[in-house]
Amino acid sequence: MGTRTWIAGIALVATAAATGLTALAVAGTAEASSSSYSLATQTLPDGRRVVARWNPCQTITYKVNPTLAAGTASQRSAAVRDVQAAFTRAAAATGMTFRYAGTTTQVPTGSTWYAQQTTAEIVVAWVNPAKTGYKSSLLGRSGTSYTAGTGGYAYKFWKSGSAPWTGATGRGFVVLNAQQNSKFTAGFGTGSTRGELLLHEIGHSLGLNHVGATSQTMYPTILSRSTTAGYGSGDRTGLTKLGATQGCISVPGFVWSDLS
Ligand SMILES: [Zn+2]
Repeated sequence: MGTRTWIAGIALVATAAATGLTALAVAGTAEASSSSYSLATQTLPDGRRVVARWNPCQTITYKVNPTLAAGTASQRSAAVRDVQAAFTRAAAATGMTFRYAGTTTQVPTGSTWYAQQTTAEIVVAWVNPAKTGYKSSLLGRSGTSYTAGTGGYAYKFWKSGSAPWTGATGRGFVVLNAQQNSKFTAGFGTGSTRGELLLHEIGHSLGLNHVGATSQTMYPTILSRSTTAGYGSGDRTGLTKLGATQGCISVPGFVWSDLS
């Protein structure tokens, strides 16, 4: 039996008022979850339950705060490369475009974390519950201990006149617990790797929930198992259902500003 490290997901809903605006939209369709993938959903004000997804036709930018990722500059650079490699895998699975926008000193935290993200749609940051300036209220807990990481998204919905309500995810975050860095091997491959942790939390930021199948990256604990690099087959099915094949969502600029 290998290491079991708890990781958590979080979702956050925010409404946005709309007046006098016509937005073309493809509403998400509620999908039954299976044991190998599970899609996050949101309930619109009219009662419809829809899949919570990004507009897959926009470029999604991300920044990385690697300050606490490792002890040396070259190791921190390797951590950033792992983040980039994880997004490359997410892009392949979703058909979406992710663009690295550089490093940041930002630490996602607080109930309005998404409003702080004005230079990149997604921020990936290593945090430390015991270090001033690096604490994040978003880092999940399992009992009395903190999880290895948490990923989440912010979703807003809107309507105009008699048009139906629609919604879209517009911001995401990944916080990784630097106190548990030593539990993870850099890169991707077999065992408990930083790459797999990143894939899991990025999966949450894109709209994947936990699953019961231990073979999948979205299983709620990282298992020290032999895996090939990248998402599992169920994870990829879920990501396909969140991605480009589902069509664009036209998101009004007042709801989510496109930062690409
Ligand atoms: Zn999780």
